[in-house]
Amino acid sequence: MKNLCKQLEHYRQALPEGGILVAVSKTKPAALIRQAYDCGQRDFGENKVQELRAKHEVLPSDIRWHMIGHLQTNKVKYIAPFVWLIHSVDREKLLREIDRQAAKNQRTIPVLFQIKIAREETKFGLSEAAYRDLLEKYRAGEFPHVQLRGLMGMASLTPDKAQVRDEFTRLKALFDELGALLPDIDYLSMGMTGDYDLALAEGANVIRIGSGIFGARD
Ligand SMILES: *Cc1c(COP(=O)(O)O)cnc(C)c1O
Repeated sequence: MKNLCKQLEHYRQALPEGGILVAVSKTKPAALIRQAYDCGQRDFGENKVQELRAKHEVLPSDIRWHMIGHLQTNKVKYIAPFVWLIHSVDREKLLREIDRQAAKNQRTIPVLFQIKIAREETKFGLSEAAYRDLLEKYRAGEFPHVQLRGLMGMASLTPDKAQVRDEFTRLKALFDELGALLPDIDYLSMGMTGDYDLALAEGANVIRIGSGIFGARD
């Protein structure tokens, strides 16, 4: 418990002013999240809709829930009433459904566009061309119930720090460009337990930390 608070503090103090530490609680029980909550942590990230929903139901209502994983279109409706930020918008069809569900819930849903920065084939995310195309449509007013707040990316899982740094640098450049085009572009979500220090050095202000806070997952 004391250790958990200490770990949270360790990551929090590394953030820039106004930055957010997302405690990634996927696969971890609600009781453990509650302990982190009691340390003062309010931002939690999950990557599965069912799990997010179940935890939301049993945990305090002032938690800000972040959806960070690949999101299926037909599941958006389950999180639309309460999700605080969706980091993983990686295709137009998904954004359309988020917009539709936000309207149904009479709210605006804040989102990040997830950009594919890793060279690995397996990672989700918009290519730069697809990103620009979607951004055009967003700027044209096609998604009135969605508020774009920034970008998210995952770097390659490689010990090559120069490569990871390059990937983060590229995302930061896109983020700065976006910030010059639109208001309310506040969040650059990049960095996990293994690479958050590089991400912060390259300009991240939202980091998503799982194992570094809660220990290894099974
Ligand atoms: C699991 C996950 C994280 C956290 O990973 P750790 O290495 O445990 O810090 C961050 N971002 C996303 C998208 C994840 O799925």
